[in-house]
Amino acid sequence: MDSDKRYDVIIVGGGIMGSTTAFYLTKKDPGLKVAVIERDLVYTRSSTTLSMVNARIQFSLKQNVQASQYAFDVLERFEDDMTVNGNRPNIVYHREGNLFLYEEAAAADAKAAMVMQQELGCQVQWWTPDEIKAHYPLYAPEGLTGGTFGAQDGHFDAYAVLMGYKANARSQGAVYIEDEVTELIIDNRQITGVKTASDTTYTSAVVVNCAGAWCTELAGTAGVDLPVNPVKRQCFCVDPAVKPDGPLPLTILPSGFYFRTETGGMVLLGKSMDEDPVGFNFTWDQNRFMDVLWLELAEFVPAFERLKLVRGWAGLYAVNTLDGNAILGEWPELKGFYLANGFSGHGLQQGPAVGRYMSELITGTTTTLDLSIFDPQRILEGKPLAEDGLV
Ligand SMILES: Cc1cc2nc3c(=O)[nH]c(=O)nc-3n(C[C@H](O)[C@H](O)[C@H](O)COP(=O)(O)OP(=O)(O)OC[C@H]3O[C@@H](n4cnc5c(N)ncnc54)[C@H](O)[C@@H]3O)c2cc1C
Repeated sequence: MDSDKRYDVIIVGGGIMGSTTAFYLTKKDPGLKVAVIERDLVYTRSSTTLSMVNARIQFSLKQNVQASQYAFDVLERFEDDMTVNGNRPNIVYHREGNLFLYEEAAAADAKAAMVMQQELGCQVQWWTPDEIKAHYPLYAPEGLTGGTFGAQDGHFDAYAVLMGYKANARSQGAVYIEDEVTELIIDNRQITGVKTASDTTYTSAVVVNCAGAWCTELAGTAGVDLPVNPVKRQCFCVDPAVKPDGPLPLTILPSGFYFRTETGGMVLLGKSMDEDPVGFNFTWDQNRFMDVLWLELAEFVPAFERLKLVRGWAGLYAVNTLDGNAILGEWPELKGFYLANGFSGHGLQQGPAVGRYMSELITGTTTTLDLSIFDPQRILEGKPLAEDGLV
């Protein structure tokens, strides 16, 4: 075996999870030989580049809140900290807030989550319909019980952040290889490497599954069965005739319909729906906007009734069907096979915390943020986390 095909760690998938893991690993131990194998270095279908790119502390599980708090920290300093070889990233980080709206039945749970978030030091508050209207006069919150506003939540340029991590990981010694992993190689109950579409074998005693919505297929080549499905989600960009005076926060209605303003007077919107198909399908359908979402938007923001549909896109959520939360750590039945999977639609903002955590697990060092609640053992035992990460 050529020494250039032997690595200390092989990461399959170079999206946000693969790239943050490579970055933190090589930062922690510059002597480590780390390879990231990514089949599409343009990232055409990666969820990272097809996301809504929202970062929020509004979760009901403490560890998800803490992961986002770390992301906030990292994003604020990203352009300074991740300048490399004179290239300063421009991540266009806008903290315009997230407004979750509630009907009576869900208000008590939302308030309990808000108290937990406040105890962790997050800026989040309860607004009545009158307060919502006072902040955003275009909204029609009548009939709702209220909402939680997280002032620190916001959005950024995912591609710029991904490229920042990648450039820094490479400058610290990580290697990116453009190829497709077709098979995990195992010997007894230990992983020993991967085979790729170019008929190359790379060896390593540690392989990290960062294959996003394709993680189940990859794990299956080693006989590991993950409860993670690729589910198509569609988003749309519209140009309303009436422009709001200022930016609108990511606003999430009780139905799950969400929208926010984007630059150029545009509005981005979407909704996860029960009929969203499982599979690797990237087509988007303007009828979903015309027949369903337009009505929801115009009902809540009557001023947006006149608009032009500019475009749409579809990407994949890697949905953990057990509990909608991440699966992080070594698979208990296969030594050296690590998982960073199943983020179910909220993974981008967890990239920094997950990459750091994976690097700590792999190098056997103390974890800065305890994310052991997401350990894969629960998958084997069929024990979902008590709180649903899909919220
Ligand atoms: C429409 C949409 C909206 C979203 N909105 C948000 C949001 O607002 N906030 C948020 O935090 N998250 C959001 N998400 C979720 C977020 O995008 C994902 O959780 C996150 O990007 C997952 O990162 P990843 O690195 O695991 O996967 P990916 O970015 O998909 O990267 C996986 C990579 O693995 C590669 N790969 C797969 N199999 C192989 C193989 N066998 N060999 C080599 N390479 C392989 C793929 O090419 C891909 O580049 C959204 C997702 C979608 C689709």
